[in-house]
Amino acid sequence: MAKKHENYDVVIIGGGSAGLTAGIYCGRSRLKTIIIEQGLVGGLITSTQDLENYPGFPNGVGGEELMNLFYDQAKKYGVDFKFTNVKEVDFSQDEKIVETFRSVYHAKAVIIATGVKPRPIGCEGEAELIGKGISFCSTCDANLCIGKEVYVVGGGDSAVEEAMYLTKFADKVTIIHRRDELRAAKSIQEKAFKCDKLDFMWDTVVKKINGTDCVESMVVENVKTKERNTITPREGEENFIIFPYVGLDPVTHIFDGKIELENGFIKTNENMETNIPGVVAAGDCRVKSLRQVVTAAADGAIAAISAENYINSLE
Ligand code: NAP
Repeated sequence: MAKKHENYDVVIIGGGSAGLTAGIYCGRSRLKTIIIEQGLVGGLITSTQDLENYPGFPNGVGGEELMNLFYDQAKKYGVDFKFTNVKEVDFSQDEKIVETFRSVYHAKAVIIATGVKPRPIGCEGEAELIGKGISFCSTCDANLCIGKEVYVVGGGDSAVEEAMYLTKFADKVTIIHRRDELRAAKSIQEKAFKCDKLDFMWDTVVKKINGTDCVESMVVENVKTKERNTITPREGEENFIIFPYVGLDPVTHIFDGKIELENGFIKTNENMETNIPGVVAAGDCRVKSLRQVVTAAADGAIAAISAENYINSLE
């Protein structure tokens, strides 16, 4: 089947907080804009139950709720949306090409806002049990944890916040962390240490996860003593649930060899410009020090203005 060809001023790849904000700004600048998103609108933050540090919401706001507001605002300014995967990009000419299964988009400028995805632990047995007792989304799978024993791996903001959230459902939540202090923000740590249902297994890494249709046991190792232990379900139970929150990897594989990357993250200047004129990047997928919704949104605004300036320079 022949692909459909469409022309846009700006194609935004990724519909998370950075992409949606870029869309709002492009729409308001009357640029013909489309956002191509491979999953659900809003990106990774939609799996966060309660966002406490986005300005303007002193009582917190749900990640999904906030992203739906961003989405409504982008639609209000006439941004088109397409929910599909980008298969290929060609940034070698002035006219940029973004290709999906069914369409070829021709754009004057492209904004990359593809974000990050959860990083697996990388231990033996993990890949086979994803979706069978290993979950990367506490919000999605919290109901499966009711009355159960749950392990969260990692010591950053995500691990600790999600572990606290899971205590509302699980009987007991244990954080397995490879060091003896958490990386999470102090304010998050303070809350966690007050949480009765939360336990910590320090200086520990997961070496192997066993099971066929569910997690039946896991082998952990103390990094200091090298002692290994096998964790099994509580008496009378057949399984337990593991949530890896050990960091985030950039979703940039389709740009490999097309734009400059550093450890997989996109290199930009402070105007969000990549090394390719007319291709800008925003949000968690780029090299930066603080990955938050507020910084992703700020990136999106700057990226949109840079794209607009670039398009104006062509005329
Ligand atoms: P992160 O900050 O990179 O933390 C990853 C954690 O996993 C670290 O504690 C790390 O240990 C541990 N780890 C890494 N690889 C491991 C492995 N193979 N085995 C065991 N443990 C491993 O990731 P994140 O918590 O997902 O956060 C990502 C970004 O989003 C951060 O910038 C964070 O501030 C931001 N974020 C912010 C909020 C918020 O502001 N409310 C919420 C969530 C996320 P070490 O500490 O030893 O390195």
